[in-house]
Amino acid sequence: MRKTIALAILLAAGICPYAAVQGEQPASEKKQAAESAAEAKRSIEDRAAPAAGDAKQDTVADDAAADPERFDWTKVDWKKRLTRLQYYITREAGTERAFTGKYWDFFKPGQYRCVGCGLPLFESDAKFESDCGWPSFDRPISEKALTEHVDFKIGYPRTEIRCRRCQAHLGHVFNDGPTDTGQRYCLNSAAMKFVSEKALKAEKEQSAEQQPPTDKPAPVATDAESKAGE
Ligand SMILES: [Zn+2]
Repeated sequence: MRKTIALAILLAAGICPYAAVQGEQPASEKKQAAESAAEAKRSIEDRAAPAAGDAKQDTVADDAAADPERFDWTKVDWKKRLTRLQYYITREAGTERAFTGKYWDFFKPGQYRCVGCGLPLFESDAKFESDCGWPSFDRPISEKALTEHVDFKIGYPRTEIRCRRCQAHLGHVFNDGPTDTGQRYCLNSAAMKFVSEKALKAEKEQSAEQQPPTDKPAPVATDAESKAGE
Protein backbone atom coordinates (compact mmCIF):
# COMPACT_ATOMS: atom_id res chain seq x y z
CA MET A 1 0.00 0.00 0.00
CA ARG A 2 2.73 2.44 0.99
CA LYS A 3 4.57 1.49 -2.15
CA THR A 4 1.52 2.29 -4.22
CA ILE A 5 1.18 5.69 -2.60
CA ALA A 6 4.88 6.39 -3.11
CA LEU A 7 4.58 5.38 -6.75
CA ALA A 8 1.58 7.62 -7.16
CA ILE A 9 3.58 10.53 -5.72
CA LEU A 10 6.47 9.80 -8.04
CA LEU A 11 4.16 9.64 -11.02
CA ALA A 12 2.58 12.88 -9.99
CA ALA A 13 6.03 14.42 -9.75
CA GLY A 14 6.75 13.02 -13.18
CA ILE A 15 4.08 15.29 -14.63
CA CYS A 16 6.41 18.19 -14.05
CA PRO A 17 7.94 18.06 -17.52
CA TYR A 18 4.65 19.51 -18.77
CA ALA A 19 5.45 22.62 -16.83
CA ALA A 20 8.61 23.13 -18.85
CA VAL A 21 8.56 26.67 -20.13
CA GLN A 22 8.03 26.76 -23.81
CA GLY A 23 10.99 28.55 -25.26
CA GLU A 24 10.09 31.81 -26.92
CA GLN A 25 10.73 31.73 -30.60
CA PRO A 26 13.65 34.05 -31.07
CA ALA A 27 13.09 36.29 -34.03
CA SER A 28 15.80 35.75 -36.59
CA GLU A 29 16.62 39.42 -36.56
CA LYS A 30 19.91 39.15 -38.33
CA LYS A 31 18.32 37.19 -41.13
CA GLN A 32 15.52 39.72 -41.42
CA ALA A 33 17.92 42.61 -41.51
CA ALA A 34 20.05 40.88 -44.13
CA GLU A 35 17.01 40.17 -46.26
CA SER A 36 15.81 43.75 -45.99
CA ALA A 37 19.24 45.06 -46.86
CA ALA A 38 19.35 42.81 -49.89
CA GLU A 39 15.91 44.01 -50.90
CA ALA A 40 16.91 47.63 -50.50
CA LYS A 41 19.86 46.97 -52.77
CA ARG A 42 17.60 45.48 -55.36
CA SER A 43 15.33 48.51 -55.19
CA ILE A 44 17.65 50.51 -57.41
CA GLU A 45 17.37 47.89 -60.10
CA ASP A 46 13.64 47.75 -59.54
CA ARG A 47 13.10 51.39 -60.25
CA ALA A 48 11.87 50.70 -63.76
CA ALA A 49 9.19 48.58 -62.14
CA PRO A 50 8.97 50.10 -58.69
CA ALA A 51 6.11 47.97 -57.46
CA ALA A 52 7.24 44.59 -58.67
CA GLY A 53 8.71 43.52 -55.33
CA ASP A 54 9.35 39.81 -55.24
CA ALA A 55 6.59 39.13 -57.68
CA LYS A 56 6.81 38.09 -61.28
CA GLN A 57 7.26 40.74 -63.92
CA ASP A 58 4.25 41.68 -65.95
CA THR A 59 3.57 43.85 -68.94
CA VAL A 60 1.95 46.70 -67.05
CA ALA A 61 5.20 47.47 -65.24
CA ASP A 62 6.55 49.81 -67.91
CA ASP A 63 3.33 51.81 -68.25
CA ALA A 64 2.97 52.02 -64.50
CA ALA A 65 6.57 53.16 -64.01
CA ALA A 66 6.28 55.78 -66.77
CA ASP A 67 3.42 57.60 -65.05
CA PRO A 68 2.20 55.86 -61.91
CA GLU A 69 -0.27 58.63 -61.09
CA ARG A 70 -2.09 58.41 -64.40
CA PHE A 71 -1.82 54.66 -64.70
CA ASP A 72 -5.11 52.77 -64.19
CA TRP A 73 -4.25 50.51 -61.25
CA THR A 74 -7.66 48.81 -61.42
CA LYS A 75 -6.46 47.01 -64.54
CA VAL A 76 -3.59 45.25 -62.82
CA ASP A 77 -3.60 41.48 -62.51
CA TRP A 78 -2.50 41.51 -58.88
CA LYS A 79 -2.19 37.74 -58.67
CA LYS A 80 0.55 37.94 -61.27
CA ARG A 81 2.18 40.96 -59.79
CA LEU A 82 2.27 40.03 -56.12
CA THR A 83 3.36 37.06 -54.05
CA ARG A 84 0.61 35.03 -52.39
CA LEU A 85 1.17 36.72 -49.05
CA GLN A 86 1.25 40.19 -50.57
CA TYR A 87 -1.96 39.41 -52.45
CA TYR A 88 -3.70 38.08 -49.34
CA ILE A 89 -2.77 41.17 -47.32
CA THR A 90 -3.26 43.94 -49.85
CA ARG A 91 -6.09 42.67 -52.05
CA GLU A 92 -8.01 40.52 -49.58
CA ALA A 93 -7.49 42.78 -46.54
CA GLY A 94 -5.63 40.04 -44.70
CA THR A 95 -3.44 40.43 -41.63
CA GLU A 96 -0.07 38.79 -41.22
CA ARG A 97 0.66 37.07 -37.91
CA ALA A 98 2.24 39.30 -35.28
CA PHE A 99 6.05 39.11 -35.01
CA THR A 100 6.37 37.41 -38.38
CA GLY A 101 6.75 40.29 -40.85
CA LYS A 102 9.99 41.72 -42.20
CA TYR A 103 9.69 45.13 -40.60
CA TRP A 104 8.16 44.84 -37.13
CA ASP A 105 11.63 44.92 -35.55
CA PHE A 106 13.52 46.73 -38.30
CA PHE A 107 14.77 50.29 -37.81
CA LYS A 108 17.05 51.30 -40.67
CA PRO A 109 16.82 54.79 -42.14
CA GLY A 110 14.82 54.97 -45.34
CA GLN A 111 11.34 54.99 -46.74
CA TYR A 112 8.48 52.52 -46.80
CA ARG A 113 6.48 52.29 -50.02
CA CYS A 114 3.35 50.51 -51.14
CA VAL A 115 4.24 47.04 -52.37
CA GLY A 116 1.52 47.30 -55.00
CA CYS A 117 2.25 50.60 -56.74
CA GLY A 118 5.42 51.98 -55.12
CA LEU A 119 3.75 55.06 -53.59
CA PRO A 120 5.82 56.41 -50.66
CA LEU A 121 3.83 55.82 -47.45
CA PHE A 122 6.03 56.32 -44.39
CA GLU A 123 9.47 57.64 -43.52
CA SER A 124 11.60 55.64 -41.11
CA ASP A 125 11.71 58.54 -38.65
CA ALA A 126 7.97 58.11 -38.07
CA LYS A 127 8.50 54.51 -37.00
CA PHE A 128 8.52 53.64 -33.33
CA GLU A 129 9.14 50.52 -31.31
CA SER A 130 5.86 48.84 -30.61
CA ASP A 131 5.40 45.57 -28.80
CA CYS A 132 2.34 44.70 -30.87
CA GLY A 133 4.39 42.72 -33.39
CA TRP A 134 3.61 44.84 -36.44
CA PRO A 135 5.53 47.79 -37.89
CA SER A 136 4.12 50.95 -36.31
CA PHE A 137 4.34 54.59 -37.38
CA ASP A 138 3.05 57.80 -35.84
CA ARG A 139 2.33 59.64 -39.11
CA PRO A 140 2.24 59.01 -42.84
CA ILE A 141 4.67 60.64 -45.25
CA SER A 142 1.83 62.84 -46.54
CA GLU A 143 -1.87 63.28 -45.97
CA LYS A 144 -2.34 62.22 -49.57
CA ALA A 145 -0.63 58.86 -49.18
CA LEU A 146 -3.49 57.04 -47.46
CA THR A 147 -7.25 56.76 -47.49
CA GLU A 148 -9.21 55.74 -44.40
CA HIS A 149 -12.23 53.43 -44.26
CA VAL A 150 -14.34 52.13 -41.41
CA ASP A 151 -13.97 48.38 -41.02
CA PHE A 152 -16.26 46.16 -38.89
CA LYS A 153 -14.37 42.98 -39.68
CA ILE A 154 -13.88 41.92 -36.06
CA GLY A 155 -17.17 43.20 -34.67
CA TYR A 156 -16.30 46.76 -33.69
CA PRO A 157 -15.31 49.70 -35.85
CA ARG A 158 -11.67 50.16 -36.74
CA THR A 159 -10.11 52.57 -39.19
CA GLU A 160 -8.64 50.68 -42.09
CA ILE A 161 -5.90 52.36 -44.10
CA ARG A 162 -5.34 51.83 -47.79
CA CYS A 163 -2.88 53.11 -50.34
CA ARG A 164 -4.46 56.18 -51.94
CA ARG A 165 -3.13 55.25 -55.37
CA CYS A 166 -3.79 51.54 -55.84
CA GLN A 167 -6.19 50.95 -52.92
CA ALA A 168 -4.01 48.24 -51.40
CA HIS A 169 -5.09 47.34 -47.86
CA LEU A 170 -2.19 48.29 -45.58
CA GLY A 171 -3.41 47.94 -41.99
CA HIS A 172 -5.27 50.10 -39.46
CA VAL A 173 -4.79 53.33 -37.56
CA PHE A 174 -5.56 53.68 -33.85
CA ASN A 175 -5.69 56.65 -31.48
CA ASP A 176 -3.40 55.15 -28.87
CA GLY A 177 -0.01 56.15 -30.24
CA PRO A 178 2.76 56.92 -27.72
CA THR A 179 4.12 60.04 -29.49
CA ASP A 180 2.84 63.60 -29.89
CA THR A 181 0.61 62.69 -32.82
CA GLY A 182 -1.32 60.22 -30.67
CA GLN A 183 -1.68 58.02 -33.74
CA ARG A 184 -0.53 54.45 -34.22
CA TYR A 185 -0.47 53.34 -37.84
CA CYS A 186 -0.28 49.59 -37.55
CA LEU A 187 0.98 48.09 -40.79
CA ASN A 188 1.49 44.75 -42.42
CA SER A 189 5.10 44.30 -43.47
CA ALA A 190 3.96 42.42 -46.56
CA ALA A 191 2.08 45.51 -47.77
CA MET A 192 5.27 47.55 -47.89
CA LYS A 193 8.63 47.67 -49.53
CA PHE A 194 11.54 49.34 -47.76
CA VAL A 195 13.91 51.60 -49.69
CA SER A 196 17.14 52.43 -47.85
CA GLU A 197 18.44 55.97 -47.48
CA LYS A 198 21.32 55.09 -49.79
CA ALA A 199 18.96 53.82 -52.47
CA LEU A 200 16.82 56.97 -52.10
CA LYS A 201 19.88 59.13 -52.63
CA ALA A 202 20.84 57.19 -55.75
CA GLU A 203 17.28 57.56 -56.99
CA LYS A 204 17.35 61.34 -56.53
CA GLU A 205 20.69 61.63 -58.30
CA GLN A 206 19.42 59.64 -61.24
CA SER A 207 16.22 61.63 -61.61
CA ALA A 208 18.24 64.87 -61.43
CA GLU A 209 20.38 63.61 -64.31
CA GLN A 210 17.30 62.74 -66.32
CA GLN A 211 15.66 66.10 -65.74
CA PRO A 212 18.20 68.91 -66.22
CA PRO A 213 17.11 72.19 -64.62
CA THR A 214 14.89 74.29 -66.88
CA ASP A 215 15.14 78.07 -67.29
CA LYS A 216 11.54 78.69 -66.37
CA PRO A 217 10.83 82.30 -65.43
CA ALA A 218 9.92 82.89 -61.82
CA PRO A 219 6.15 82.81 -61.28
CA VAL A 220 4.54 86.24 -61.42
CA ALA A 221 3.31 87.39 -58.04
CA THR A 222 -0.46 87.67 -57.84
CA ASP A 223 -2.29 90.58 -56.34
CA ALA A 224 -4.32 88.28 -54.10
CA GLU A 225 -2.81 89.82 -51.01
CA SER A 226 -3.68 93.38 -51.92
CA LYS A 227 -7.21 92.26 -52.85
CA ALA A 228 -7.57 90.49 -49.53
CA GLY A 229 -6.67 93.74 -47.80
CA GLU A 230 -9.42 95.69 -49.54
ZN1 LIG B 1 -0.34 51.37 -53.74
